[in-house]
Amino acid sequence: MDGARTVHATFGTRSEASHETLANFGNEEYLDYNSTAPIADGVLHAVRPFLSNEFGNPSSKTNRLGQRAREAIETARGHVANLVGSRADQVVFTSGGTESCFAALVGAFRAQKNKRHLVISAVEHPAVTEAAEFLRTMCGVEVTQVSVNRNGRLNIDELFEAIRPQTGVLSFMLANNETGVLFPVPEIVEMAHARGLLVHTDAVQAIGKIPVSFAELGVDLLSLSAHKFGGVKGSGALVIRDNALWEPVVKGGGQEGGRRGGTEAVALIVAQGEAAKNRKQQLDAGMAEGVRSVRDFFEAALAERIPEVMINGAAMNRLPNTSSVQFEGVVAQELVQALAERGIIVSAGSACKAGSAEPSTVLRSMGLSVVQCLSTLRFSFGPHASRESVLHTIDILCETVAYFRAEMREQLQANFR
Ligand code: PLP
Repeated sequence: MDGARTVHATFGTRSEASHETLANFGNEEYLDYNSTAPIADGVLHAVRPFLSNEFGNPSSKTNRLGQRAREAIETARGHVANLVGSRADQVVFTSGGTESCFAALVGAFRAQKNKRHLVISAVEHPAVTEAAEFLRTMCGVEVTQVSVNRNGRLNIDELFEAIRPQTGVLSFMLANNETGVLFPVPEIVEMAHARGLLVHTDAVQAIGKIPVSFAELGVDLLSLSAHKFGGVKGSGALVIRDNALWEPVVKGGGQEGGRRGGTEAVALIVAQGEAAKNRKQQLDAGMAEGVRSVRDFFEAALAERIPEVMINGAAMNRLPNTSSVQFEGVVAQELVQALAERGIIVSAGSACKAGSAEPSTVLRSMGLSVVQCLSTLRFSFGPHASRESVLHTIDILCETVAYFRAEMREQLQANFR
């Protein structure tokens, strides 16, 4: 109890001291890479000309400015294709993961006019669930959600049972944004293709964190987002195996081979290409294993030093950078805030839900209670994560968690006095 009291005193003027505290820490510990990542090395340099004198329209084939813009886009397309293991002509640039998922699903149903049933998992990102909702309400497509178990494992038997003659498309994420749990996408593809079904995977969290091969996965459609691996926000891609199996959703002046209308965002695409090139080199150099060892070290240290913590999805094959951690007896939103004030940036649940105290649907689908959901934090490490920074984070976590638990105990005791 003494330890907890000391912490209490330190935290007594938490909100007034916040600026000073941050200043004292100088550099923040950013552990929220599933939310977004810093701009990768080399990106600013590569993009700069396209925000100044290189302003050509890539569709203007007759002038050098336009030709150089086109060349820059095609170079970027090559880098993205190299990162995802696809052919360059399969990559269509979009405004990000949300647009890619929407275009993937709506475009797949546009191409399969006699199909009226979509199967997704219960833990998809809103980029997929909202596209599914659009298809349901606007196009009469029925949607089935396949459940996951307590570890986040997809219930494959339920997926088999969900298939019916009207089923046209399956959409299953490659990696979950909150827990990092990986779905067995190649297995799903094998089953789907044997039945003539299309498969989309939302690979927004996987691309850039683990080596991925579009060709080996075998999916028909794959969505990615550049800001998750060092590109600029508002930029992504949809990778399409066979144009004949899909119809464009955003039509216009025939850009992107007629697959996504609108003058290309040259600077953002160049940024995406440069970030992809950079990340492919890091992955080839063993980045994922390095991050995994730091994440595992973090989880082991947590278990050793803080009582009553639980890692969601720990038993599963997960992204190497993600830890979804329940801290019993702590309100995650308060802990996130207190950590931020001490220079440690993490999130409670997924970033898209930040600010709302709604329990995460992903964790609820895994069978966690509302209280367990509301006491879960997501730590997501970047390529340069180190054991030293993990130790620093754990020290601060020990103090903050002990403080909140002591406060909770005091409140309970006061209420029942
Ligand atoms: N899908 C997943 C799994 C995500 O985690 C996100 C963003 O967090 C998205 C889709 C949306 O991507 P974007 O932010 O590029 O629209």
